[in-house]
Amino acid sequence: MDADLGWLTDIVNTTMSAPLTVADRCDRCGAQAYVRVVLDAGDLLFCAHHAREHAPKFADVATHVQDETDRLHAEHGAGAGAAAR
Ligand SMILES: [Zn+2]
Repeated sequence: MDADLGWLTDIVNTTMSAPLTVADRCDRCGAQAYVRVVLDAGDLLFCAHHAREHAPKFADVATHVQDETDRLHAEHGAGAGAAAR
């Protein structure tokens, strides 16, 4: 049955790949969101901090997780403290 869903998966991935913007805010603290968690009931947005905190809870129910925390490092990590890698 998995093969039958291949076309659908392609569409979903394309739809969900829309990048998060500064207008997307963490549902918990209102900071800029870098992770989108897609559930059957809708989307949840989290900042990097709360995405990590809630990951164990949404891992079971999420249908898709869009993680853009890499952008966080790219945008804000160029200055002080960026040498952690
Ligand atoms: Zn947050």
